[in-house]
Amino acid sequence: MRYCRFESEDGPQYGEVADRDGEPWIQRVLAPWPEDPWAKPAVGDFTPMPLNKARLLAPVVPGKIVCIGRNYREHAAELGNEVPKEPLLFLKAPSAVIAPGEAIRIPVLSQRVDFEGELAILVGKRATKIGAHEDVQPYIRGYTIVNDVTARDLQKSDGQWSRAKGFDTFCPMGPLVTDEIDPEAGLTLTTRLNGDVKQHGTTRDLIFSVAMLLRHISAAMTLLPGDVIPTGTPAGVGPMKAGDVVEVSVEGIGRLRNPVET
Ligand code: ZN
Repeated sequence: MRYCRFESEDGPQYGEVADRDGEPWIQRVLAPWPEDPWAKPAVGDFTPMPLNKARLLAPVVPGKIVCIGRNYREHAAELGNEVPKEPLLFLKAPSAVIAPGEAIRIPVLSQRVDFEGELAILVGKRATKIGAHEDVQPYIRGYTIVNDVTARDLQKSDGQWSRAKGFDTFCPMGPLVTDEIDPEAGLTLTTRLNGDVKQHGTTRDLIFSVAMLLRHISAAMTLLPGDVIPTGTPAGVGPMKAGDVVEVSVEGIGRLRNPVET
């Protein structure tokens, strides 16, 4: 199923997304996920609407965001880093999450703010120490897109990444969640800045697979429904400035578009 979270007259709601004449539409309202205390239940009749007419919200209110650094060979190389021997984890502040279309704000504290287009896993079931031979599929609710916005200068000067990755608005997410795709099969990921292609990769090149990531993370910390795991970015990261528009597309999910402002 594909679904989105959107602002209705009654408040945030979840909607099932299906194609009509090749365009995605919100077909019906779904019961809210238990981890989302703000969402309103489906009440009354719902008139289907095109997805691009809805006021989309980030598709999840994450408890935590566990990111993976350097999970594509060419991206590790472009920043002069070795390919890690095991997944490199860092946490991104949930307060940084913004909706599709919402503005990324360039902080006055940074001179270099980069986009990082990423496929993200959405956890759907509590996971602690997933076994080496255990099927990970039951723990995956679906996939979405994250732009792991990064203050590259502060990432270097701080020596660790909490501030550089955690500024308000540094985690655009959406436009929807789908369980109808398979990253192992190779999904094309493209990031455009003002229409120009900057990143063009495939999830087939992930160094650590979705299953390896879930095992590795859950060996250390319990994953809960609503947690989000951006899986790393391919080569081609670069800076954004006020006035730019950044778009991250992943095959089978859609396009996450955000303006950049001061
Ligand atoms: Zn990243």
